[in-house]
Order: sequence, then structure tokens, then C-alpha cells
Amino acid sequence: MTKNTKIIHKKESVAIIGAGVNGMFCAYYLLKKGYQVTVIDKNAEGLTSKNNAGLLTPSLTPAPKISINDVINALAGGAGPISISPRRVVADPIWFLKAAKYANDESQTQRIIDMGKDSLKLYTEFFDSEKIDADVKKGVAAFYSSKEEAKELSKKYNGKFIGEKTITHLGYNELHGGIIFKDEISINPVKLFAGLREKIIKLGAHMELGEEAKLYVRGGSVDYIQAGTKKIHADKYIVTAGSWSNSVLKSAKVNPYIEPARGFSILFSTNNKTIISTPALLEDYGIAVAQHSANLVRVTSFFELQGEDHNLKKKREEWLLNIIKTHLANYRNMRIIGKYYGFRPCTPNNIPVIGAAPEINNLFIATGQCRLGVTLAPITGKIISEMIDGKPSKKYKWLQNFVKN
Ligand SMILES: Cc1cc2nc3c(=O)[nH]c(=O)nc-3n(C[C@H](O)[C@H](O)[C@H](O)COP(=O)(O)OP(=O)(O)OC[C@H]3O[C@@H](n4cnc5c(N)ncnc54)[C@H](O)[C@@H]3O)c2cc1C
Repeated sequence: MTKNTKIIHKKESVAIIGAGVNGMFCAYYLLKKGYQVTVIDKNAEGLTSKNNAGLLTPSLTPAPKISINDVINALAGGAGPISISPRRVVADPIWFLKAAKYANDESQTQRIIDMGKDSLKLYTEFFDSEKIDADVKKGVAAFYSSKEEAKELSKKYNGKFIGEKTITHLGYNELHGGIIFKDEISINPVKLFAGLREKIIKLGAHMELGEEAKLYVRGGSVDYIQAGTKKIHADKYIVTAGSWSNSVLKSAKVNPYIEPARGFSILFSTNNKTIISTPALLEDYGIAVAQHSANLVRVTSFFELQGEDHNLKKKREEWLLNIIKTHLANYRNMRIIGKYYGFRPCTPNNIPVIGAAPEINNLFIATGQCRLGVTLAPITGKIISEMIDGKPSKKYKWLQNFVKN
């Protein structure tokens, strides 16, 4: 060997189950650190990480509050954003009892808000350095029917209060108070998904798409992943399988305790008209509206705890369309061009499960981000990549405790 020969130490290999936004951000940070990464997904096209509202708004973490009346209404099949299937409650009453216990518990809220803010900084760095076009819009609003409620919440959430006149100017009707978060952003999730996938492939990720993966565990370690006919061996393994994480982790005897919460996105063309000039959450209804480009508006809603059911009831869709008809001044220019759904991976206590799996020495888990899964994806990827690199963040040590629950 000559004096000038460089010795390149190839870092370890990592295999990731789940090519959603969380799996891809884990891959992104690991690739940047020099790891060899394989990402496996049974669904080649993506689902939840494409079909969401795309609002990166950590300040709104505490909203919405779910009251006991909402739960009774949801169980009775009433109109509204929340729906709960009694069949699902019977199947796993403990999850629902725990969720009821934690519904209005704000003890961990500030930690999640801070985590979201750290993630937002990583998004800014990511978009600046990678030049991915995801229709990024700065400034997101939350609107309310009650001016007083908006005023009060603007103080609690540290946003700027705006009155009805300004709201009307932004393209919305019959909403009497709002809050603007000028530093929070909206993205087009379809473009983020595509840009991120292209980026990790460019960085060298090996993708195994279209086959269901199974973890094989032996003597306290993951031995390999079986995906179709392929056996994938790696030094370390990550499960970022969203709403399917419980079943993927069964062979490792870990239960992250995820319940899928379905939501819908409806896309509209706009006849090239500006419908709204600021993306917003209509908080009284749990509906989000964003105009990504000159001819594309996305409306999202529903939090449905009813398992992996794929049918949107006509009555519920009509409820949604009636509300946006009332509150979007330019609704007449909107034409439906697509309807999509996704499943938020939710824990009963609203705390994500991010960390090393207990008693399996080469397995890491990142799931349970629920309504904030896109917002928290970069920080999730960073936390996991630092753990794998043997330099775990002290700041996020608290998240690991929940893996054992
Ligand atoms: C309507 C709606 C609106 C939302 N709005 C927002 C929002 O505004 N802001 C926000 O931050 N979040 C939002 N969310 C939540 C967010 O979309 C999710 O939390 C996030 O996409 C979850 O990403 P993930 O990578 O963890 O999981 P997923 O995107 O579900 O990815 C997991 C992947 O694992 C794969 N997989 C599972 N099991 C296996 C297996 N055995 N073998 C191989 N592959 C497997 C799946 O196919 C899937 O592609 C919304 C969600 C919905 C539905």
C-alpha cells in the first residue's frame, strides 16, 4: 500500500421496512453518514405519506381536543370528522380506554411541539440543500367560527390573531377569527414523497418494492428480512411500517400499540383560479385546505378509527363537501379530480415510538407519529440515524421509554 492510498471504511448496512416519509428520512440521514441502505415496501406506490394534508404545523400539536360528546357521536355514526367503529373498540378495548385517558393530557405536548420545531428546521435545511420542489408555502392559518376562541388560542399557541376581514381577504367565508403561524409551512405531499424517493435512490439506497417483508429473529437479534423470495441480511434493521408496525414487529415480540386512523384527501382542479391564498385548518370541523399550485387544491379530513377499511361513506363525503362549499368563497371553480385515503399510525397516548427495540440488539423502531407523521419525519430520521451511528441524542432520550410500554 502506498503512503497516499486512502482507506475507505464502508459503514454498516441497514435494512428498513417501510418506504413512507419516516422510512425515507431515516434512509436519507443514514446515507449521508455513509451507511449502505436497503428500503423495503410492499406498496410500490406509497399511500399515507402521499395522501395527507401536508401541513407542517408543530404549533397546532395540541389541537384538536376530542370531547366525550365527540366520542359518543362518533360511535353512534353521526356526521363529523371523527368516526369510531364499535367493532374495533371490542377488538382492542385497552387501546381505546388508554386513548380516552390520554385524550386531554397535555403533559407531553410541549415536548412534541419542540420536536416539531426541530423538525421544521431540518425541513428548511433539506429543501435548501436538496432543491426538491414540493410546492413549499410559508405561513399556515387556523380558523374558527368563534372570534373569542381564536383570540384566546392565538395566545396559547403563540400565533398572530386575525379577524374576519383578513380571513375573507384570504378566500374564506363565514369564519370569525383565526391565527396565522407565519413560519410554519405547507407542502404538496405527493411531490415531497416523489422528491425524497428520487433523492435517496441518487444517494445510493437500494429499493425493494412490491413485496411484503417479514422479520426473522434469532437469539436476541434480527437475523434477516424475507421479502418475497429474497432474504435481506443487514447489520441493523429499522421498522418504520406506519399503521402496519404491530404485525411487522410481532416476531420480535414488540408491540408499539398502533391503531390506524383513516383520513381522506380530495384533490380539485381550480380552473386556474386562486381559491385561497393561505393554507388553513378549519378547526371546528377538522378540515384542512391547501392550494399547492395555480390549478390544484387539496382538501383533507376525517379521523376514523375503524381498522383498515377502504370505503368512504357517501354521507360523510357530502358532509365534507357542504362545509367547504360554505367556507370557500370561490368553491364554484373547483372540480374533483381525485379521492385518496391514508392511515395515520396512532398510539393511545399520542407519543411516537422512536428508539431501540427492547431486548433485540440490532432493531430500531420509528412509528406512532399519528397526525404529525410528515411534520416529525426529518427529526425521526435524524434521531434514529444518530442512534445507529452510536451517538444517540440526549435531548430525545425520553422517547425511548415509550418503546417498552
Ligand atoms: C388525511 C390525512 C391527513 C394528514 N395530514 C397530516 C399533516 O398535515 N401533517 C402531518 O405531519 N401529518 C399528517 N398526516 C399523518 C401522516 O401522513 C402520517 O403520520 C405519515 O405519513 C406516516 O408516515 P410513515 O412513514 O410513518 O408511515 P407510512 O406512510 O404508512 O409508511 C409505512 C410503509 O410501510 C409499508 N409496510 C407496512 N408493512 C409492511 C411489510 N410487512 N412489508 C413491507 N412494507 C410494509 C407500507 O406499505 C407503507 O408504505 C395525515 C394523514 C392523513 C391520512
